[in-house]
Amino acid sequence: MVSSTILGFPRIGPNRQLKKYVESYWKGSTTLEEMVNNTDELRLQNLRVMKENGLDILPVGDFSLYDHVVDTALMFNIIPKRFREHFESELSSVYSSNANGEYEKKSLYDVYFALARGIGDNSSKDITGGGLPSLEMKKWFNTNYHYLVPEISEETEFKLIHHDLIKQFVEAKQLGYVTRPVVLGPVTLLYLSKIEKAALHEHNRVEKYSLVSSLVPVYSELLAGLEAVGCKWVQIDEPILSTDIDEEISKCFFSFYNSFKSSLESRRKANSLGNSPEKISVILTNYFGSYSQNFKLVSTLPVEGYHFDLFYGKADLNEDVISGIEKDKVVSLGLVDGRNIWKNDISGSASILKYFISKFSPENIWISSSCSLMFVPYGLGSEQGKLEKRVLDKLAFATEKINEIKQIKDSIKNFDASAEGIALESISNSVDSDLLQSVLFNDESPELNRSLDVVERKKIQDSLYNLPLLPTTTIGSFPQTTEVRKYRQKFKKGEISKEEYDGFIREKTSKCVKWQLDLRLDVLVHGEYERNDMVEFFGENLSGFTTTSNGWVQSYGTRCVKPPIIYDDVTRLNQMTVDLTVFAQNCANKITKTEKNKVKGMLTGPVTIIQWSFVRNDIHTSKVAEQIAYAIRDEVLDLESNGICMIQVDEPAIREGLPLRPKDQELYKKWAVNSFKLSTSAVKNGTVIHTHMCYSDFNEIFDLIKKMDADVLTIENSKSDLKLISKDNNFGEKYSGGIGPGVYDVHSPIIPSKTEIRSRVNKLLEVFDKELLWVNPDCGNKTRTEEQVDLALKNMVSVAEELRGKI
Ligand code: GLN
Ligand code: ZN
Repeated sequence: MVSSTILGFPRIGPNRQLKKYVESYWKGSTTLEEMVNNTDELRLQNLRVMKENGLDILPVGDFSLYDHVVDTALMFNIIPKRFREHFESELSSVYSSNANGEYEKKSLYDVYFALARGIGDNSSKDITGGGLPSLEMKKWFNTNYHYLVPEISEETEFKLIHHDLIKQFVEAKQLGYVTRPVVLGPVTLLYLSKIEKAALHEHNRVEKYSLVSSLVPVYSELLAGLEAVGCKWVQIDEPILSTDIDEEISKCFFSFYNSFKSSLESRRKANSLGNSPEKISVILTNYFGSYSQNFKLVSTLPVEGYHFDLFYGKADLNEDVISGIEKDKVVSLGLVDGRNIWKNDISGSASILKYFISKFSPENIWISSSCSLMFVPYGLGSEQGKLEKRVLDKLAFATEKINEIKQIKDSIKNFDASAEGIALESISNSVDSDLLQSVLFNDESPELNRSLDVVERKKIQDSLYNLPLLPTTTIGSFPQTTEVRKYRQKFKKGEISKEEYDGFIREKTSKCVKWQLDLRLDVLVHGEYERNDMVEFFGENLSGFTTTSNGWVQSYGTRCVKPPIIYDDVTRLNQMTVDLTVFAQNCANKITKTEKNKVKGMLTGPVTIIQWSFVRNDIHTSKVAEQIAYAIRDEVLDLESNGICMIQVDEPAIREGLPLRPKDQELYKKWAVNSFKLSTSAVKNGTVIHTHMCYSDFNEIFDLIKKMDADVLTIENSKSDLKLISKDNNFGEKYSGGIGPGVYDVHSPIIPSKTEIRSRVNKLLEVFDKELLWVNPDCGNKTRTEEQVDLALKNMVSVAEELRGKI
């Protein structure tokens, strides 16, 4: 009989308890013991829920107090030097304890949370701010989840420093659960890690993939430990197989999995004192895409099974891949979407399952989720009676998805493989032929293009606005203070009237305008006080969107986000931002008794709205982008006709939507660029279109950014070590629009000094034309205090004013 399983379950709990339990420990309002008890209970509750909803094999080790990547790093003693030194005595107590026995628990948790959050100033990522900066955070493949980047150096001594995974397995076994431990694979671990800077200086370059041989003993020790307590299967996650891997990485796979197999074998020999437990088997797990070409390599590795993501990796449903699977292997079919919230097409899934049953023995088939379910909310329970029924009826969150897996399994009870043949063609991908009909695929369409190019437009704009050299501006939001949040809460709960709330927002906005004028900023913003979130705000104001009451997903650590749901065609119902933007402009005019200070309109672009929402999947995503683009386009035109002549359309998420494989990237780039152009190109040549990007490494998409044809691009820059202007990129030569690389990091509470800002601007001036350079922070001011913003912007404006006279 086929078995049902999933790759992982949400860790945050049905009501985000993880947040409460862990954060109250951080604050000191609960003890370590209480926190551990609470989170253990959450972990065990997950097992119960999975079992009750019909799973045969449960994942264990997928739970985490912060992030599974830092879990793995710590388990294998991957601790950067700054933390090794700081925690010398704590770590020595961990090392000296028998890994099986009780180590000094607190020590390990202290190290763990320090890696995740840094020491001293918690939000400081900057070593110069004192304290120890945490590990860097990055997006987990093409998801919105952030993992912590392990730092490895030549001095890293890989060793298994605790046996928590083994203990969790034993605990679950004693409770009567059949479980499969989940471990992040060595090649993906190295791929996600970075080499510590110090190591780079001293030895030029540490070849990170060559380190894989040193990981063999720790993985084999872990697996031997699991085997000894009766564990039959372990899931080794290698999602890097969804990318095009190069020679070096292929070799790394080959060498690791082969040496690991023999290492495990020698451990068995050394340990075998009569009792030979059943050998542990490995299911190699890829998700977020197909194996495609990589399967040739994968099929030669000594593992006992493979997981296929049959949602985002449907390309693997082809003869080449399937014929490469040996008959005695286990195949795990990721039939239920772990990334989106729509109900499964049970009969479609059943057909795929039937096809596999006709090829492989049912005992060797697992029905599973495409990836871990941690990317979808916990369950629909709290949406009942709140979400519109016609939407609710289409949804399945994590708990419901487990149920779907059971339904798929039940649906084939009477299936007779010998009687009913299933052709591969009937289950593999069909191409959407309507796709190319969209305006987004017609580069030449007048709807996508402004009549003059960026250089000609600048001449007109310069003559209209008379901005100084190095014009200063901000990215949009001003501090969302407790007061602002309180008012919004009260308004949402119905405790204050719309008039009162709007009045408050206007008052904040007018003060913000006055403040910016006092700071002598050149281009103003309204401050975004009316927005809780840059995507949710538009979700609430466009048709086709809905929001849940409890649909949280983990963003990083204990932080969660509640993405809106795009379930229908998107249209603009009313003007969304015109009123408040015009109000801000009028405030500026009144205060200065002129019209020379311009307020920049502030919108979010189609790609970012899509990336940070759950998007319908009954039509191609580019079609949704087209619909949103038309809505934004109307808003842009309304802003313009109401006198707003600078309009920013933010696309911070444009990089993260980039597909994992180059061959899939072209299509995305086309609709991503063109949906921005469709949103923005209807304006007059004199209207200045700004865009903003952050949170990513933009190396791979400079061509795309250029094609967006914005008049001004503000881009996060100071945190990423000025990569933008490195010799390899030389973005300065490539970009002919106005450009504002951030001159300080807004995510740090440390006030950037004038010296720091001046040195950044001077560096930028070496690369960018002074006529094109803008001076602005890295990102919005939303998360800072008013005092921090005031001091930082004072320094920024003062540097710009000082340099103007000199360049
Ligand atoms: N305009 C937005 C703000 O300033 C942009 C935020 C972002 O880039 N993530 O808050
Ligand atoms: Zn930003």
